[in-house]
Amino acid sequence: MINPAAAPRILIQGGRVYHHDGDVHQPAVADILVAGDIIERLGQNLPADDGTEIIDAAGKLVVPGFVNAHYHSHDVMAKGLFEEMPFDIWAVHSNPSNYGPRSLEEVRLRTLIGAAESLRNGITTIQDFLTVVPQEEAVVDTVLSAYEEAGIRVVFAIAARDRAALDIAPFLPADLPEAIRTRVAGADRKAKDELDFVAGEIKRLGLRPTPQQTWALAPSAPQRCSHELLEGVAALSRMHDLPVLTHVYETRVQAAAARRQPSDSSLLDVLALAGLLTEKLGIVHGVWLTAREIAQIAEAGACVIHNPVSNLKLKSGVAPILDLHRAGVDIALGCDNYSCAETQNIFIAMRLLCLLPAVTDPEPGPVDAAYAVRAATIAGARAVGLTGAIGAIKPGMKADLIILDLNEPAFVPFNSAARQVVFSECGRAVETVLVGGRPVVRSRKLVTVDETALAAAVEKVAPAFRRDAQALAGRNADLVAPLLNANREAWKVPLGFERYIGRGPR
Ligand SMILES: [Zn+2]
Repeated sequence: MINPAAAPRILIQGGRVYHHDGDVHQPAVADILVAGDIIERLGQNLPADDGTEIIDAAGKLVVPGFVNAHYHSHDVMAKGLFEEMPFDIWAVHSNPSNYGPRSLEEVRLRTLIGAAESLRNGITTIQDFLTVVPQEEAVVDTVLSAYEEAGIRVVFAIAARDRAALDIAPFLPADLPEAIRTRVAGADRKAKDELDFVAGEIKRLGLRPTPQQTWALAPSAPQRCSHELLEGVAALSRMHDLPVLTHVYETRVQAAAARRQPSDSSLLDVLALAGLLTEKLGIVHGVWLTAREIAQIAEAGACVIHNPVSNLKLKSGVAPILDLHRAGVDIALGCDNYSCAETQNIFIAMRLLCLLPAVTDPEPGPVDAAYAVRAATIAGARAVGLTGAIGAIKPGMKADLIILDLNEPAFVPFNSAARQVVFSECGRAVETVLVGGRPVVRSRKLVTVDETALAAAVEKVAPAFRRDAQALAGRNADLVAPLLNANREAWKVPLGFERYIGRGPR
């Protein structure tokens, strides 16, 4: 335990301090006293004791650290390798299981690179939904120690699935060659093995492996998990009071496949039947939710994690942001993984959250810049189980703070904090970042990790990954045409609504 009297103290002096409920355009100037990992006081002209570090924030804007509520660190090395791949084709090129085990050095470096870009862009909490290949303690330890080294807060989740088949499998032609059919079907795993690994790691490492590390549960998607696995996850969630995150209706194919089940089943009903449709549930994507399913989510008090960049890059459609908002569903934001979104930059996600509703609705609406800042902070905190701890600048909350330089062109002239954070800034103004009271970025540089040395180390392991990606693309070559055809086949299933402008593909 840190003795509060002995904890390092930092006084952030004279900055404009962003309050969600205050003047979001011209935030008032205030001092912030940080003691240990907590914001102790806010006020005017706060005194500094001897030994208190002063950070001069005059001419700067202090905002709560951002929460990236959806990310997978397993494919950082695939950054920039793929484009023009609709979801299911991307999936076979990026699935970590198709790459086999990676060296622990590569695992460490890829985790650090993702954490480094996040921190430089003001993301202080990351939710890593990690497919652990192979499911071994050493991989988990390597990832968590890399996060600790970088100094970022992490809500860690081990992805679980026992059904291996591609989501698009129901739409593949019956006369597919056996060799392709076998690959599409994959090898199922045992629900018990998946649950035992997740439960075992939580037990081994504890509910708080380090002060900045907590857990979430991550059944990959309802259609990729047996009822037994989903029920087991629900039991773990109840036992440890953990949030549950799962991909739901990312693509039209997934919605069409659900309709093909004998009972015309809804993936939300599948989750409800397993006891997972509760206020602890975060629906990742939710692009192809029906009006009834949106009402179910609202009634359960579950939230949605919107990932606009990956949804667009994988041609998955645009999530029903306005419908979710009108129903009272909290929307958090994710930057998703590098192989399908390329960057950990929540400024882009906030911007798209505000801009995308215009593709279907020409009227002025409620999803404005201040709402987007909440989505990237308070709603994100809630989605990852950290309500009350992070997401706002208040005494008693964790000192996860970003200091933005208002002399950057994005903020000149300074007309509105919220609007310029969301619509003008790209990350360049992020000057200082504190996570749990510890400065991890100063003068736009990581202080925890030598970025130049990290880049050099990554370049050493990158050629092997590129070779493996190229070999995988070769093995996948005969899958691409059948998958594209199956995608078109799925379009023939009527859903009664669309998530593209017009009527979808010709
Ligand atoms: Zn995901």
